[in-house]
Order: sequence, then C-alpha cells, then structure tokens
Amino acid sequence: MSNKIIIVRYCEIHLKGKNRGYFEKVLEENIKNALKDYSLQVRRIQARVLIENFNENEVEEICSRVEKVCGIHSYSVAEITETSLDNIFAICERLCDFKGTFKVETNRADKRFPLNSMEISREIGGRLLSKFSQLKVDVVNPEHVFKIDIRENGQTFVYLNEKKCVGGMPVGTAGKGLLLLSGGIDSPVAGFMMMKRGMTVDALHFHSYPYTSENAKEKVLELAKIISNYSNKLRLNIVSFTKIQEAIHKYCPEEYMITIMRRIMMRIAEKLCLKEGYQAIITGESLGQVASQTIESITVTNDVIKNLPVLRPLIGMDKAEITNIAENINTFKTSILPYEDCCTV
Ligand code: ATP
Ligand code: MG
Repeated sequence: MSNKIIIVRYCEIHLKGKNRGYFEKVLEENIKNALKDYSLQVRRIQARVLIENFNENEVEEICSRVEKVCGIHSYSVAEITETSLDNIFAICERLCDFKGTFKVETNRADKRFPLNSMEISREIGGRLLSKFSQLKVDVVNPEHVFKIDIRENGQTFVYLNEKKCVGGMPVGTAGKGLLLLSGGIDSPVAGFMMMKRGMTVDALHFHSYPYTSENAKEKVLELAKIISNYSNKLRLNIVSFTKIQEAIHKYCPEEYMITIMRRIMMRIAEKLCLKEGYQAIITGESLGQVASQTIESITVTNDVIKNLPVLRPLIGMDKAEITNIAENINTFKTSILPYEDCCTV
C-alpha cells in the first residue's frame, strides 16, 4: 500500500444543481476507465475524487492519464501521515526543493486537534522559515502553496501545489458528435474542444488514395489516437473520396471545386450522423482563415445540412491560439508532417 494519494478536483460540475450527482458519477467512471491498466482504487468523497493504493513507481504515468480526463480541474499528489505536527513538518521538509515564496494553508476537519488551522499554518510556516533560508513567506501571491488537510480519521494529507488539468465537463455528458478530421492543425483541436465540453466524439476522414498517400492516412490515424486520450474511446471512419474528386475534377468549373467538395463532405457526414445517431457535425473551421472559410463560403457549405447543428468550436480563434492548444494536446508535431490532403490534391 502506498502512503501517497492523488486528490482530484473538478470545477464546472459544481455549478450543476440537482443533476450534479450524475456528472460526478460519469467523471468517476471516466477516471476509472482512464486508469484501468493500473492496480489502484478510485473513490469519490465530497466534491473530490481520491485515487488510492497505487504503486508509487507508476505515479507519473497515472498522473499523465489523470491530466487528460476532461472535467478534472486540477490534482495534487499528497502524502498521508498520522496526524501530528512533527509528521506534517517532516513531509513539508521533504517537499522543499525550491527557492522563493510560499504560504501554508490548513484545513482542519478534525476539530479535536489542539491547534486551529491558522495556528497550524503559522507553526509549520515558522519551522520551514527557520530551516530553509532560501524561503520567504508571501500570503498574497506565493509561488508555492503547502496544503495540510487534517482528516477526521487521524490521518493528514500534505501536498505542495495543484497541477492544472484540462477542465470542462466529463466526456459522455453532452451527446455524441462526428468530427470531420483532416490531417491539419485545426480539426484535431476542434475535436478536443468538444470533448472538453463533455461530448463523445467520433471522427470521419476523407481519403483520396492514390492521390493521397498511405502516410497521409497514417497521420490521421495517429491524430485520432492522440485526441482519443482525452475521451474514453474514439472511432475513426475513413471514407474513400477518390471517385468523387475525380468526378468533381471532370465535371465542375475549377473555381467551384473546393466549395462543391466541401458540400459533398458535409452531405456524407450528415448521412453518417443520421444513420449512427450522432447529434452534431464538428469542423475545424475558423472564420476568414482561408477563402473556403469566409462567411459566404461557410453559408454555402452549411446550406446542405438540413437536420443537424454544425459545431465550429474554433470559429473565433486565430491561428496562434489554435496552434497553442495543438501544442498543449500534443497534436501539433503530427499535424505539421508534410503529407498532402485531399484539399491540396
Ligand atoms: P484543418 O487544419 O483542420 O485541416 P484547415 O484550416 O486546413 O483545417 P480546410 O482544409 O479548409 O481547413 O478544412 C476545413 C475543415 O473541413 C477542417 O477543419 C475539417 O474539419 C474538414 N476537412 C477538411 N479536409 C478534410 C478531410 N480530408 N476529411 C475530413 N474532414 C476534412
Ligand atoms: Mg486542411
């Protein structure tokens, strides 16, 4: 058994009313699912989820999975000790591998403990200051925060800082959408954004073999795999677009080719949605980014969709903002691999 515990916090779920329990339950299930390869326990307490009894050698891998579960606001890896000032201080001492400013915050659920939370913080802070000359207290804007959580069962959790996570809502609480996934920078980000709102996302990719290569398809598979880390699972549908593109090339005026291609992509996407029960189409369009994403072009492509909303989570973002998210979710490196897609063909 480990003497460490991971404390997981959520944020937006707190805004929910009577149905809050439902969102909490889905989040707990999603955490269990993300960690199913590890031997550990996941348990819900008031407004927190605790991960316990894991192998300490696996803590980094476990944390890297926790960071990707949508709906989690932050987590901390805490050490557990029998409640006593000496034990608490011993942990804080071990965590002190930094220079700079800090404060100590205490939460005392166990009211039998003789000092109140202010007094505990002051005592531990004082001991840290006299032991470590490189530290300074800053209660307003500290670089590091020690948290001491004195539980009612005679145990205390001690940890340093909170690691921010994805945020948003748990996947599985906001319906099911179909992402039009290209090999570019934008559409994987668009899929991630909708997952972050709780949507279950599957993907559809149009492939134009032999005009587009096997590598181009592998790249899309890889992108789908990377974004699937943020949801429970993701199904990627690949549709061959070759014959359609050849026909467009043969019969349509050149200046309309992209627009017609887009309209056909949308039509196929809508059909698949209606057949498989997807409630929305998701694209990576951003207003004005290219000629096919002006309001006039969007109006014309959108016009073929009759029964579903088309969600464009990047519509108001600029390329730098989108790229920044792509880097954070680790799709950027793959997106910029130089394989042609069917639009360039
Ligand atoms: P991306 O970076 O996502 O490729 P983009 O800026 O290159 O976007 P376009 O190529 O104009 O933009 O495509 C706009 C949107 O159409 C994409 O974000 C994506 O949702 C969809 N799309 C484009 N090509 C394909 C494709 N081959 N398969 C599936 N969807 C596609
Ligand atoms: Mg593209």
